[in-house]
Amino acid sequence: MRAALITQPRTLELQEVPAPTPGPGQVRVRVGATGVCGTDVHLFDGHFHARLPLIPGHEIAGVIDQVGAGVRELEEGQLVALDPVIACGQCWACRRGQRQHCLRFEALGVTQAGGFAQYVLAPAANAYPVRHLSVAEAAFAEPLGCVAWGILRLRPEPGSNALLFGAGPIGLLLMQALLVSGVTEVTVVDPVAERLALAKSLGASHTVQTGPSMAQALRDLEPHGFDIVAEATGIPSVVEDMPRYAAVGGKLLIFGVAPEEATVRISPYDIFQRDLSLIGSFSLNATIPLALNWLESGRIRVEPLISHRMPLEELHKALEYKEHPGMGNALKVLITPEG
Ligand SMILES: [Zn+2]
Ligand SMILES: [Zn+2]
Repeated sequence: MRAALITQPRTLELQEVPAPTPGPGQVRVRVGATGVCGTDVHLFDGHFHARLPLIPGHEIAGVIDQVGAGVRELEEGQLVALDPVIACGQCWACRRGQRQHCLRFEALGVTQAGGFAQYVLAPAANAYPVRHLSVAEAAFAEPLGCVAWGILRLRPEPGSNALLFGAGPIGLLLMQALLVSGVTEVTVVDPVAERLALAKSLGASHTVQTGPSMAQALRDLEPHGFDIVAEATGIPSVVEDMPRYAAVGGKLLIFGVAPEEATVRISPYDIFQRDLSLIGSFSLNATIPLALNWLESGRIRVEPLISHRMPLEELHKALEYKEHPGMGNALKVLITPEG
């Protein structure tokens, strides 16, 4: 089969490799679409303790074409979305229901062969049957599963309002998830006008462009601050400014992936005195079913977020788009190995 491999840091090679055969409890999936994500760039750079060579790609959807011994519930020909997190089920974290913190953490496309290939193996328990969705929509189950975990962590109050920094693909998923989870109004901030227009068309109540007048514009909208302030930027200076936009009793959600070594200055007195909550959200935790419910109900729309569909041969270009936001006007890029 054809596969894209990171052979060493910053080297991507398209290779012909043997197609895998499913062992007991595994299924083989013919990949229909795999989303390109910032994590893939980190792996390409050799971060995340990447064990190379590696076939990356963890936002995977496709059709089961072989099932291993002992697989129940699934059969050949079924369209599935894959949960990339492979948890041992036995360690301290797994026993506390924190699969994404498994002490023997493995993940498709991160520590094991992923979806930038014609075929991928997955434990049957990680393959979720999909109904009424295209394979491209199903490839959003993983990023939306991460958003779903963020929503479960955040627990938005009914009728609350939210301020969201970042209108990239993840920000636009998070915005829609807030709106189907009890939040009445979401104000979206981003430097790119086209992204703000898309946010508006997907349900943002207000949009504000990043710039010198931004702080005043946000104060004019909500003089007492927002109940929820979330970010999907990974930019430390954005995180640092979040408390000033929060209402008393407000919740701050850090959703973007900041550089590991970055630090920010936040006033403990401010967090204390205004009853603020600071919430993190890592990866996904058995939240693919919630993501699929949102997608299958049509309540969260992902087609408008797809800017490119590329063959495996162009994964290199897709990673470049991810490294340089704004390049190629890219939002979500899907790799479609079957062309
Ligand atoms: Zn991802
Ligand atoms: Zn475990």
